[in-house]
Amino acid sequence: MNPAPLLEVTDLTKHYPVGSGFFSRPMGWVKAVNGVSFSIGRGESLGLVGESGCGKSTLARLVARLLRPTDGSIRFGGREIGALDRRAMRPLRKRMQIIFQDPYASLDPRMTVAASVTEPLLNGATLSKRERRSLAADMLATVGLRTSDLDRFPHEFSGGQRQRIGIARALCVRPELVIADEPVSALDVSIQAQILNLMKDLQQQFGLAYLFISHDISVVEHICNRIAVMYAGQLVETAGSEGFHWACRHPYTRALVAAVPQPDPQVILPPVPVEGEPPDPAALPPGCPYHPRCPHAFDPCPEQRPPLIEAGRHHQVACWLNGGKGVEQGLPLNWHGSG
Ligand code: ADP
Ligand code: MG
Repeated sequence: MNPAPLLEVTDLTKHYPVGSGFFSRPMGWVKAVNGVSFSIGRGESLGLVGESGCGKSTLARLVARLLRPTDGSIRFGGREIGALDRRAMRPLRKRMQIIFQDPYASLDPRMTVAASVTEPLLNGATLSKRERRSLAADMLATVGLRTSDLDRFPHEFSGGQRQRIGIARALCVRPELVIADEPVSALDVSIQAQILNLMKDLQQQFGLAYLFISHDISVVEHICNRIAVMYAGQLVETAGSEGFHWACRHPYTRALVAAVPQPDPQVILPPVPVEGEPPDPAALPPGCPYHPRCPHAFDPCPEQRPPLIEAGRHHQVACWLNGGKGVEQGLPLNWHGSG
């Protein structure tokens, strides 16, 4: 039997009440995450991609248990953590760390780098001051910073360097899972590649599992083994990252891929922006949430939400086209026709 995956999420749901007073009932719900299931094995990296507002950060915060789920299950290391309180979560905190888009927000401006990097260790660790400093120096070297940076403050660093400090801080406790929520989105493009390559190297070096979030599909293709595409709080496609451009079958995924300029000179299709607006999570359309924007929508799409089902080896799609397998492979990415 295969060992249990490191992380196993089943039917995870987060609905926020809208317009409720302290005593009154909510007037409605913002359905940020709607029945998401996936798993991540040890040392594996899953990329989560989708437009702004589709629920990526909410999902990240649920998995890290910074938020309490409305429904569903989160198993980490074989243990159900979805309903654990703050205290019961404490010993598990070191095993999963989260890296945010803006490291500045997660670094205390009054703390030196040495103190920030080793802060997650404080709970329960019995290191002397000297040991902590030496560990902080090791972590800085690991992320490409210098020992002379130990006594400096966050504002003295560039955005890319601050993200390196954020990474050192997350890795200091030797986590098994790192949840990275748009870790390079705030950085200049030239710096993005450096941080991505660093994160890729560290994944190998430490055998980390990643839940790596980005709105940019080329970023997750670069760093992840597998890709999950999120739309309106649901997963609409999951597949291996190798050859993802050609293998993807959900019309939304294909629109995302077609919107990325292709570095491959053999690809002659110009980038095509994703048309239309994502739905309001407080008023999701019935049926497939993508149907109002989908050039292929037909009879069942406004009626029933398609389930996420197998469309090939290690490939799942939630789409009614082709008996549940989505757009036929081999058609141009921006193909809109019906025949
Ligand atoms: P993403 O990270 O993909 O941009 P988010 O998870 O941040 O998306 O947000 C998903 C949806 O949930 C958005 O419509 C957002 O406005 C809404 N949302 C997030 N947090 C809250 C909250 N605390 N209360 C109400 N709505 C929220
Ligand atoms: Mg976000």
